[in-house]
Amino acid sequence: HAKHMGKNTHQIYTPSMNITSHKVYYLEKDIRKAIYRDELFLEYQPKVSSKTGEIMGAEALIRWEHSEWGRVSPGEFIPIAEESDLICEIGNWVIYQVCQQLHDWKRSGIDLVPISINVSPKQLLKENFTQTIMEACKIYSIDPTSLHIEITETSLIQSSIVVNETLTTLKDIGITLSLDDFGIGYSSLTHIRQFDLDVLKIDKSFINNLPDQQEDVTIISSLITMAHGLGLKIVAEGVEKQDQLSFLQQQECDYIQGYLFSKPILANEFITLLNKNRLQNKHPHYT
Ligand code: C2E
Ligand code: MG
Ligand code: MG
Ligand code: MG
Repeated sequence: HAKHMGKNTHQIYTPSMNITSHKVYYLEKDIRKAIYRDELFLEYQPKVSSKTGEIMGAEALIRWEHSEWGRVSPGEFIPIAEESDLICEIGNWVIYQVCQQLHDWKRSGIDLVPISINVSPKQLLKENFTQTIMEACKIYSIDPTSLHIEITETSLIQSSIVVNETLTTLKDIGITLSLDDFGIGYSSLTHIRQFDLDVLKIDKSFINNLPDQQEDVTIISSLITMAHGLGLKIVAEGVEKQDQLSFLQQQECDYIQGYLFSKPILANEFITLLNKNRLQNKHPHYT
């Protein structure tokens, strides 16, 4: 293993590989080992009510601390993992990790908020996906209503029977379904009509230029009206500025997520923030 020979070896590096493909090569190899090397962990990003500032839930986001490369962002390694069945292994690890965390919090007497889990299309296509969820809930005595699942439209475009049945079963057992990154990629209103979703998460790219860009203002206010008309809740992703928040509050967007309120943080930091938030009942941002 080049890894054990230190950082200065160029053993496997060939001139035909640029730095990027060199890195991809190693990442791909090392993702396999990341789980048992204990290099993966989760951070939690709060989701707050835009009206009251109350923390209503959190999204679990995977983190990888690679021994050589340092922090590798999920935007970099999830797509690589998605090329193989590895994404399912990682995905299962996340499910069990979240359920264990909820179990630990419950045991310490913490009043839970639902935790959202990101699920890849490949995972959702597995026949045993719902079983995995139910098994994890059973092992850790977790009520499925404590779990939200975030899917992307890539999961819905195949309109496969498996995905359809899986989503129906998930809803039946009380899991809330969110459509992530709404507005980009394969967006189609058909998906909203066809599937029994609960939440639309509007992609950050539509939030970035609020409230200055008129097109985005129109799109967001129409999306919120449409979602509410269809009985869906709306989450705005990537809210970073006070004037974005003010606009979203004015438009009666249900929830916000973003650096303005909190970056993704470690489990214990999240609990500290949750306790503080519950004491205050109102966050300073919302005066
Ligand atoms: P996502 O599910 O859309 O998650 C939102 C991303 O936006 C997260 O990036 C989050 O840290 C970031 N974010 C939140 N608020 C702000 C903000 O105000 N400003 C900016 N600049 N960014 C903000 P992250 O954690 O790097 O994750 C990237 C993507 O990787 C996620 O996008 C999701 O698609 C994927 N991912 C993360 N964890 C998992 C996982 O456990 N399983 C799967 N399948 N995918 C995951
Ligand atoms: Mg997400
Ligand atoms: Mg998203
Ligand atoms: Mg995204």
